[in-house]
Amino acid sequence: MEYAPEAISHLAQQVTQVFKAALERRLVSSTTAVTIAEVEKEMRELLRQMGAQALSQFLSSGAGTPTTELPCKCGGTLHYQRRRAARVTSVFGRITYERAYYAGCECGKGHAPVDEQYGLVPGAVTAGLAALLGLGGIELSFDESRDWLKAFLLFEVSENTIRSETQALGAVQEEREAKVCQQSQNLDYLQARWREKTPLPTRLYGSLDAAKVRIEPRAKEGKKSENTEAWRDMKVGCWYQAEPVPPVQRSTRQRDKYAREQAVFRAKNMHYYCSIQEADAFGKLMWGIGCQVKADLVPELVFVCDGAVWIWNLVKLHYPHAVQIVDWYHAADRLERVAQTAFSALSDRTLWLERVTADLWAGRVTPVIQACEHLASHCEEARQAVTYFTNNAARMKYDQFRAAGYLIGSGTVESGCKQIVTQRLKKPGAQWEVDGAVQTAKARAAWLSGEWDAVCAQRAALSLAV
Ligand SMILES: [Zn+2]
Repeated sequence: MEYAPEAISHLAQQVTQVFKAALERRLVSSTTAVTIAEVEKEMRELLRQMGAQALSQFLSSGAGTPTTELPCKCGGTLHYQRRRAARVTSVFGRITYERAYYAGCECGKGHAPVDEQYGLVPGAVTAGLAALLGLGGIELSFDESRDWLKAFLLFEVSENTIRSETQALGAVQEEREAKVCQQSQNLDYLQARWREKTPLPTRLYGSLDAAKVRIEPRAKEGKKSENTEAWRDMKVGCWYQAEPVPPVQRSTRQRDKYAREQAVFRAKNMHYYCSIQEADAFGKLMWGIGCQVKADLVPELVFVCDGAVWIWNLVKLHYPHAVQIVDWYHAADRLERVAQTAFSALSDRTLWLERVTADLWAGRVTPVIQACEHLASHCEEARQAVTYFTNNAARMKYDQFRAAGYLIGSGTVESGCKQIVTQRLKKPGAQWEVDGAVQTAKARAAWLSGEWDAVCAQRAALSLAV
């Protein structure tokens, strides 16, 4: 919206007068000088109070005389009662407003057209505030975000409200995903995507990972909950594209990496999804979101993941033609663990590790397996590594992958996994119920995927439908 500069200027003059008057009263009783930070904070508080009043007046300003009757959703008739007060918590804090109120239908339900128009639920928060509370809730623990949000909002919202609003946004994302998954079973929808004008990326990447989340054991009926921790796997997936990092934009670490590897990529257009589900159910989510990003239509699909069996089984099932790459850092780390366990002398360890890492980098998996076999008789780590490298040999042709310009490290989804699970859900002492953990993670995934505004808009529309 646009506002007339003269009107803004006029309002600002009035604000200044009110502010100065309050400031002079304060200076009389205080000897300390006023800092600009205080001026800013106090002026913000004044504007917040004005905002609360303005919003209240706006919502109370219903035009004209209300009609005496309205059709009710049940098919009956509602009758105008009176103007009735309601309270909501907005971005300006708690406000009260008065609006036309209807009742008297046989179904017993009341109705306020203003509430319906703006999706207001008396006693609850507005959609505008909900979006901000969610931003706090996906970033910090609900307890921490209360203080953090207070610094921005200038009033306090309870930890429980932040939790429920964050999780409500996650529930919206869950619904969006469910819809996408449902569409992905519809042949007409799948075919219609061919006709869409948006160009397909020539190469699309997929990654999958999992991390443990501590779930609060639920009390069984009639029994007290056993005080045992239950850890569940939060599976995280990401669809993304990769682009080379231009020389001027490379960090020190990336410059080192470029010197070593002659290539530095970064991910773009990330689309995260996550859930606490068994692999086959998670596979359906991967396929559904995959259809949305046209993973099944792109000329080239590449999966870069760690060596977990469930991951490759899902890839083979849903995208049998995709290029499969074991994340380079996982594979190299495996060798490092073998070296750590098998050699006590540093020089032996370094010598062995340098040789096998060079072999692996050059895509020579057979000598890597042989080197591990030599150590297998006295080293369990090496024995396991033999199986790992044997099973994944085809996914470790790093020479060919590099020559084709593929990204060989799944840093993107790993960092997504870290950002979604480790950073947010694994705060010290954090315990979750499954639904709460999943919804918070989904809200966070929506933010990281650039879908926040769409989710918030849908949440606002949902409260309209209530
Ligand atoms: Zn009714």
